[in-house]
Amino acid sequence: MTVQTKKPTPRWVQIAWLVVFGFVVAINSPAASAYHYDTGNPRLHNKQIHYAGTGHSSVDEDFCTQVADGDGGLSEATLRARVDDTVLSQPSHWDGAGSWKLDMYHTSTTCFDPANGDRSAIEIQYRTYKYQTSGKGCGDGISCVTHYNEVSSGKGHNDFLNEVAWLDQDHVTASQYSYRQLISHETGHTVGFRDPSYGSCMTYLSIMHIPYYGCADPGSGPTSSDLSTLANSIMP
Ligand SMILES: [Zn+2]
Ligand SMILES: [Zn+2]
Repeated sequence: MTVQTKKPTPRWVQIAWLVVFGFVVAINSPAASAYHYDTGNPRLHNKQIHYAGTGHSSVDEDFCTQVADGDGGLSEATLRARVDDTVLSQPSHWDGAGSWKLDMYHTSTTCFDPANGDRSAIEIQYRTYKYQTSGKGCGDGISCVTHYNEVSSGKGHNDFLNEVAWLDQDHVTASQYSYRQLISHETGHTVGFRDPSYGSCMTYLSIMHIPYYGCADPGSGPTSSDLSTLANSIMP
């Protein structure tokens, strides 16, 4: 993959991830809301979220999974099942957002399998790392998203063709609630949502505004506000 642009998105820290589920963060009143999706140029999201196709088409969001750096504690089958559970199946999930402009399709093979052929056609790669490696987009114990291959979106701004969600293995082997929230949060970055500044919570719940940032727990998937913001403010 040719890296034309690489913009790390603010990330999770392992110790903070543990804190998220160990304590209740008290908030007296949320701070004034701020934009929680990217409005710059290029916009930090995948181009294909703007477009809906028929059947399994080139404007779908194909995704793959890969245990890129493991210690045997996470199998390819488990990673595959947990990403599917998070983005396709849990009660509130990303797939189907915006009247199916977001149409997520899991490739049959792992991200690096030669059978995938032209991997540039895969919009989102979910790769797990047990230890930091030179190829990872963020440090050990951290999950993050980077955006690659800037192109015109056809919507008056530039977007990206390829996203990589770098998932810390320990985030994926945590509880069901934990991995759902983590993978949902990182997937939110691939469709343009941003992290808040600490304490800058929205007046409504968002999967991007989690207890790590001093916000109320939004649940384990995209909220109704996230889905409507994506459909009405980011996708058009
Ligand atoms: Zn765009
Ligand atoms: Zn984030």
